[in-house]
Amino acid sequence: MTETYRGSIASRLGVNMYEIDEGNPHIVVDQDAVRASGVAPMLERICPAHVYSVEADGTLSAEWAACLECGTCLALAPEAVSWRYPAGAMGVVYREG
Ligand code: SF4
Repeated sequence: MTETYRGSIASRLGVNMYEIDEGNPHIVVDQDAVRASGVAPMLERICPAHVYSVEADGTLSAEWAACLECGTCLALAPEAVSWRYPAGAMGVVYREG
């Protein structure tokens, strides 16, 4: 029988581990495309890991190390976000299934 884990999303995400590929981001934001498309607020809203933040000057920052590799941002804004999987053995290490 499968055991069901009960707890908040934040607590469940908190058990994940991350292998961070310093200096080799797997997400690169095209600020010109972000500005032209106006997609920044949507990206900030849809990312389940809160990777994206709209800065005071309107640019979009990306704390890529926290990425869950769900692909949602790439699906919604391929013109603004260059996304690839992290290099082998890097990125999120899921601890809950
Ligand atoms: S792939 Fe998913 S978790 Fe990673 S930055 Fe995009 S929306 Fe966020």
